[in-house]
Amino acid sequence: MKSIAIKTLGCKLNFTESAHIERLLKEQGYVFVPFEQEADMYVINTCAVTEQAEKKCAYYIHHIKNHFPQAKIALMGCYSALRKNELQARFEVDIVLGSNNKFELSHIIPSLLAGDSPKSTSYPDNTSTFIDSYSLHERTRSFLKIQDGCNYYCTYCTIPYARGHSRSDSLSHVITNAEQIVANGIKEIILSGVNIGDFRTPEGEGFYDLLLALEKVKDLKRIRISSIEPNLLTHDIIQLVSKSEKLLPHFHIPLQSGSDKILKQMKRRYNCDLFTERIHFIKQHMPHACIAVDVIAGFPGETEEDLQDTYAFLERLPISYLHVFPYSRRPGTPAYDMPNQLSNHEKSHRAKMLIELSDKKKLAFYKENLNSVRQVLIESTTKQGYDIGFTENYIRVKIEHTPKKINNIQTVRLNTIDADGSVIAERIEG
Ligand code: SF4
Repeated sequence: MKSIAIKTLGCKLNFTESAHIERLLKEQGYVFVPFEQEADMYVINTCAVTEQAEKKCAYYIHHIKNHFPQAKIALMGCYSALRKNELQARFEVDIVLGSNNKFELSHIIPSLLAGDSPKSTSYPDNTSTFIDSYSLHERTRSFLKIQDGCNYYCTYCTIPYARGHSRSDSLSHVITNAEQIVANGIKEIILSGVNIGDFRTPEGEGFYDLLLALEKVKDLKRIRISSIEPNLLTHDIIQLVSKSEKLLPHFHIPLQSGSDKILKQMKRRYNCDLFTERIHFIKQHMPHACIAVDVIAGFPGETEEDLQDTYAFLERLPISYLHVFPYSRRPGTPAYDMPNQLSNHEKSHRAKMLIELSDKKKLAFYKENLNSVRQVLIESTTKQGYDIGFTENYIRVKIEHTPKKINNIQTVRLNTIDADGSVIAERIEG
């Protein structure tokens, strides 16, 4: 049987979709091999969020053409959705697909490997429909796509142009997929999408309704909400999580800047007051909740004073750690043409400052949780004889290995912080 290798760049949603497409192709009998190995067909699921991601795509194409010149190459995803003709002309790959028509790959690959040359024009990238996906390749956790696209058009972001407008799966279909995932023995589901808080069905059910329905899925133990916009993280949702056995006290909330002036230029849909209010409401109801915050360093026009505002704002907030991104100038976005673009040196200097703050915050968060009792889903075992997993509030934990505990939820006490940044814990039960 012919072999395929797939490389996925970018976000969790891209990984969810690659895992789904891989499963469809495996069901057709194709064999998947590691990307470094020789294969008959290479697939790259591309990302357009940063210049770095685009460079990586070019690097992998050159790698394949130099090492495996006979192999077929397919590109798909956000970068190829935005720059199809340019990529086709520049790299002469076998097919370039976009965001939605990537799911045609399971129909395209057989004819490609049979020597035909299917045209991507035969597969229009219609981003008005929702196509579901979920991952099953990890034994303990699964990413479940519930929503796609975005209507927000933040001035630095390419995603609405690549993935189209916001659209959601039906509530009943999400539940069916969740039951399917649980039937495969998986205990934790991570809800993924582009703007998941914007989940809305044609029947008018929203994200809150979806969480209520997911809570009722039998044998589903843990539900993790991936990134959610602060303005869409309502009090109802926060209170629901605080009372839930299954919804985990772990929030990933994009802030992007701690300066209202910059938030306006980004066309974000909240200000610092709203963000602060949400953080305090979470901590009021779940003092041990983990709060991860996205922040962009070096947005055009960000003065030293704006940077200091952002730093001081984040320092004051009871958050757990940061995801820091140096601003990446994206063609086709309004911010691309904004004046006062900062140098890469200045952007990485500012990112470094925020990463140091994040390390301080994370250490403080971990220290706050020492001596507490938590639930850990064991995901793997290390050569050093530790079982590894994450607590409900997303603390990476190591416990002495016990056979047959992978994919089991254990009650542990968090004891000490280890040199590698994880927490050493001891089993109490399970
Ligand atoms: S909310 Fe803004 S940053 Fe997020 S995907 Fe939509 S446009 Fe991009």
